[in-house]
Amino acid sequence: LDPSAENFSQEELDIERALRPVTFDDFTGQAQVLENLKVFVEAANLRNEALDHTLFHGPPGLGKTTLAHILANELGVGIKVTSGPVLDKPGDLAGLLTNLEERDVLFIDEIHRLSPIVEEYLYSAMEDYKIDIMIETGPNARSVQINLHPFTLVGATTRSGLLTAPMRARFGITSRLEYYTTELLSTIVERSADILKVPITQEAAIEIAGRSRGTPRISNALLRRVRDFAQIKGNGNIDIEISRYGLKALNVDTHGLDEMDNKILATIIEKFKGGPVGITTLATAVSENAETIEEVYEPFLIQQGFIMRTPRGREVTELAYKHLGKLKGGTQGG
Ligand code: ADP
Repeated sequence: LDPSAENFSQEELDIERALRPVTFDDFTGQAQVLENLKVFVEAANLRNEALDHTLFHGPPGLGKTTLAHILANELGVGIKVTSGPVLDKPGDLAGLLTNLEERDVLFIDEIHRLSPIVEEYLYSAMEDYKIDIMIETGPNARSVQINLHPFTLVGATTRSGLLTAPMRARFGITSRLEYYTTELLSTIVERSADILKVPITQEAAIEIAGRSRGTPRISNALLRRVRDFAQIKGNGNIDIEISRYGLKALNVDTHGLDEMDNKILATIIEKFKGGPVGITTLATAVSENAETIEEVYEPFLIQQGFIMRTPRGREVTELAYKHLGKLKGGTQGG
């Protein structure tokens, strides 16, 4: 399962929207992030000011988009949604910005993928709530400055390392989202099952949660597929047996690792004798770029104890050998 939303069908995206928490109280986990945001939102509301520009970074599927919507909701304002790759001309951005009402939220997903021209154009909008627009064409063309309503830019990125320093400096609030524990994810699974009106046992919720790669989007996707198995192969209720049956049929890894996670571990073991191996060498060997490995894959593998970071590079742990059913030291297993 790929935790980025790009490969989801329209129907899946609709269900995902239905499962999306809408208030701070609905949102499970990320306690520290939430605690701070509540203070900043309350203060902005009291002063009737726009919330400071806010940046969310962290791996896909952890709730960045969800939090942007929650912010708008808790601020009692509207939200306009776009993304870095979509905004390719300053004119597109100008259209969005001039349509924002006082204190509205503009959400830009994948903000690290803005083109340099659009990014530069955004700077004055963020800083002084002013933009320059070109009027007329040909010899009469000239630029005029227009004032915008105070607004909040909420940016999301999976790759904070690719964000330029001037862009980063313009966010007053920066929050990093972390992978969720199995316990938190099981709460999310139970909440989603409730919305989907499918009965689920606590044990089954924990089983699904533990195989979700620390990611709510994956938990919800697995829940929906297990629900199908429960309806067709079972009695409609999700219990531990039907969950195990479904997850096995779906080929879901027992630790929730995805194909690239397993490829990284197998490569370190098979090609580099378990490591240590430098990140660039590893990246070449698995045909992925080094930053993606560092920002998307590695944090989870380290958190779960499959990989260690040493001064000489990455090393796999005992757990990785066990997980892949391999013997340490390259001896042939039976
Ligand atoms: P991101 O923008 O970080 O890729 P999203 O905000 O789109 O992730 O979250 C993906 C899905 O996961 C959402 O539709 C929502 O249903 C679910 N989700 C994410 N975080 C939470 C959470 N803390 N509690 C409940 N559901 C969540």
